[in-house]
Amino acid sequence: MAVTRTFSIIKPDATRRNLTGAVTKMLEDAGLRVVASKRIHMTREQAEGFYAVHSERPFFGELCDFMMSEPVVVQVLEGEDAVTRNRDIMGATNPADAAEGTIRKAYALSIGENTVHGSDSEENAKIEIDFFFKPEEIVG
Ligand code: UDP
Repeated sequence: MAVTRTFSIIKPDATRRNLTGAVTKMLEDAGLRVVASKRIHMTREQAEGFYAVHSERPFFGELCDFMMSEPVVVQVLEGEDAVTRNRDIMGATNPADAAEGTIRKAYALSIGENTVHGSDSEENAKIEIDFFFKPEEIVG
């Protein structure tokens, strides 16, 4: 299995509850290495641009407001089959459906305030990494 990269966000519900370290530990324990990380307060332009794929969905406005409500931590994660590994440790979008041992099972508050974002494909990982990071900010 090849070493690849994925993009992660520790969302406002987690930074608000001081869970940045706890969430990062679960990512690291799952075999992912943090090769870039920064705490930012998303602008509306960033939130709407990042989630543009969801712009027609009924929850789009609420989702963007939430992502701008408190700081987030954006990260690049590296590891074997990083996209799938990260999706597995994140758990299902709705915490009610998330498996034991996953981040969302442990910490998510609702389907919206669900603690973490993770890219859903290698193609999207590249796009999302480029959205928030310059190449020199990533130190493998
Ligand atoms: N979301 C929401 N309501 C929904 C579905 C999704 O608020 O009914 C939010 C939630 O924060 C989710 C994000 O929109 O993480 C992106 O949705 P997606 O279906 O891509 O889920 P994910 O890939 O994050 O599991």
